[in-house]
Amino acid sequence: MFLVDSHCHLDGLDYESLHTGVDDVLDKAAQRDVGFVLAVSTTLPGYRAMRAQIGDRDNVAYTCGVHPLNLDGGYDYAQLRAFAAEPGVVALGETGLDYFYQQDNIPLQQSSFREHVRIGRELKKPVIVHTRDARADTLAILREEKADECGGVLHCFTEDRETAGALLDLGFYISFSGIVTFRNADALREAARFVPLDRMLIETDAPYLAPVPHRGKENQPAYVRDVAEYLAVLKGVDTARLAQQTSENFSRLFNISLPGM
Ligand SMILES: [Zn+2]
Ligand SMILES: [Zn+2]
Repeated sequence: MFLVDSHCHLDGLDYESLHTGVDDVLDKAAQRDVGFVLAVSTTLPGYRAMRAQIGDRDNVAYTCGVHPLNLDGGYDYAQLRAFAAEPGVVALGETGLDYFYQQDNIPLQQSSFREHVRIGRELKKPVIVHTRDARADTLAILREEKADECGGVLHCFTEDRETAGALLDLGFYISFSGIVTFRNADALREAARFVPLDRMLIETDAPYLAPVPHRGKENQPAYVRDVAEYLAVLKGVDTARLAQQTSENFSRLFNISLPGM
């Protein structure tokens, strides 16, 4: 079996007491058949620092972007474009809209989101989209900016079935995190039943949102196995089949040939 963690903040794990280093984290992942990790950045300095920390590896790829909650100091558009064009960067993001945690900078969130999509189209790299309490605006911007031309994924999906349908119509993939295992996530489980297997990704969003049975602990790429096992039951397939399909989807979307496949 070969699993991919399609969204992880690999620079944000606890390297003081839980792991001895990045090798340790990736070893623990490999022991649970998680053979590839997408390391997602949330600021431009963070992107630089993460690459310096983790280095070039055949089981890690990078994204470059500015998270909607990290826009207070603005960012340099030319630098974003230059970093995003670097080899080893497979996507723009994470970008998007978060009206749940911040509403005083909505115009800035929207213009940043649009710029990420434009660069994605220009560089032919997909976008990784974060959305919270901003469903209608997120869909409107993706349509207006022709995001279907670069493609992308709505990560850590927590919306309803109708929103999933609208994203699928745009050609987007939908990524499920450990939230789908939470007891109160019935609406999300309904959406997960609806999303076809060939458009589904899985992620941890580590260090946040550890799935059951690790809930409350720090999350890590190894735990994407728990998300896969849970979703497999929900979809009525075995875990190996879900692993195969979600890894193929990942490979197709991000144009990465996976070493184990
Ligand atoms: Zn996010
Ligand atoms: Zn994230």
